[in-house]
Amino acid sequence: MYQFKYFMPTKIFFGRGQVMMHPDVFASVGKKALIVTGRHSAKNNGSYQDVLNVLDQAGIKSVLFDSVEENPSLETIEAGAEIGIRNQTDFVIGIGGGSPMDAAKAIAVFIKNPQISKETVFLGQQLEHIPVIAIATTSGTGSEVTPYSIVTSRVDQTKKNLGQVVFPVAAFLDSRYTDSLPYEVTVNTAIDAFTHLVEGYLNTNATSFSDHFAEEGLRLFGDCFIRLCSKEIDPEFRDAVMYASMLAGIVIAQTGTSLPHGMGYALTYHKGLPHGIANGILMIEYLNIFRDKSKIDRLLELLGLQSLSELESVFSKLITHKIAISHEEILQYAEAIMSNQAKIRNHPEQVTMDQIIGIYQKSLL
Ligand code: NAP
Ligand code: FE
Repeated sequence: MYQFKYFMPTKIFFGRGQVMMHPDVFASVGKKALIVTGRHSAKNNGSYQDVLNVLDQAGIKSVLFDSVEENPSLETIEAGAEIGIRNQTDFVIGIGGGSPMDAAKAIAVFIKNPQISKETVFLGQQLEHIPVIAIATTSGTGSEVTPYSIVTSRVDQTKKNLGQVVFPVAAFLDSRYTDSLPYEVTVNTAIDAFTHLVEGYLNTNATSFSDHFAEEGLRLFGDCFIRLCSKEIDPEFRDAVMYASMLAGIVIAQTGTSLPHGMGYALTYHKGLPHGIANGILMIEYLNIFRDKSKIDRLLELLGLQSLSELESVFSKLITHKIAISHEEILQYAEAIMSNQAKIRNHPEQVTMDQIIGIYQKSLL
C-alpha cells in the first residue's frame, strides 16, 4: 500500500537561459529586490548580470548585498537583513551556492520580523518571511528546492538549521553558471549532492515517492562519478550533476538528512572541511554500519557498482583530505550528535555511541 505526504511548492525553471526568459516570475513576486550573493563568483559566472538584465526588463529595482561567506554566520545574516530593511526591499534573490541561497532565506525571515535577533530566532516559533527566488550556481546543496537554511552559530559553536520553513517561490537552474567552478569545488559540491541522495534514501522518512527521485539521482551519479574521477568535466556533465543535485534537494526537502550531515557539521565548524567533504569522508563507514543490506545493494546497483569497496575506491580518488583530530575531539563530536534528536530520528536503525565513535575513528584516524 502506498502512503506518503509530499510538499514542495517551489516552481522550477531548469535549463539554459531560463532566468532571462522569465521577467514575469520576478515581477509577480515584488517591486524591489535584495540580491544576496557571495563575494565574487556571481559577478564572474554570468548569473548576476542575467538577474540585473531580467530585473531591468521587469521594471524592478534592486540593492546588492555581496558579503556572504562560506557557511554563512548569523552576524552576516543580520547585516544583510539590515540593508534589506533600510532599503525597503520586498523580496530576496539568492544567487550562488548553498551559502548565499541559505543566507537569502534567513535574511528573508529577518526582514519580515525586524524584532528577532540571532539570539531569539531559534526559540521555536514559526516565522513568516518575504518571498525568495533562488538561483543556483553550484550543483550540490539543492537549497533552491529545500525549506532549510543552514547557518553558523558562534554561540553554539556549530552549524545548524535555522528551523524556519523557507521554500523559494521559484528556483532557476542553468548549468552554464557552474562552468566556472574549479574542479575541487565541483567535487566537494557533487559529493554533498550524493550524500543527500544516500541520506534521503536510507531515511526514516523515505517514502516510495521520495525514493523515486532518489533512485533517479543515484542512477545519474553512476556516470557522474566516472566523469569526476577521469576529470571529464564538460557541459553534459554539468547539466547532469545539476539535475541530480536538484533531485537530491527534492528528496531531502521531504526526508531531511541524517547522521553524516549531523556528524559532518562539527568537521566543518572545528576543522574547516568543506561541507560536502565533511559528510563524504564519513560516508563509507556510515554505509558499513547500515544493517538493511537490501537497500544498500539496490543503491550500489543504481550506481552501477558491485560492492561497497568499489564505492570506497571512487571516494578515495575524490577525497584526499587529511585532518588532525584527537580522541577527545571525537568523543566531544559523538556526544553532540547523540543529543541531536532530529538527525538520530532520521536514521532508520538504532545507533549507539560506540558506532558513532567508530565511524569517526575509522574515517579520520
Ligand atoms: P558555497 O559555500 O555556496 O560556495 C563555495 C565556493 O564556491 C565559494 O568560494 C563561492 O564563491 C564559489 N562558487 C559558487 N558558485 C561558483 C561558480 N559558479 N563558479 C566559481 N565559484 C563558485 O558552496 P555550497 O557547497 O554550494 O554551499 C555550502 C553551504 O550550503 C553550507 O553552508 C551547507 O551547510 C549548506 N547546505 C544547505 C542545504 C540546504 O538544503 N539548504 C543543503 C546542504 C548544504 P563566492 O563566495 O564568491 O560566491
Ligand atoms: Fe548538504
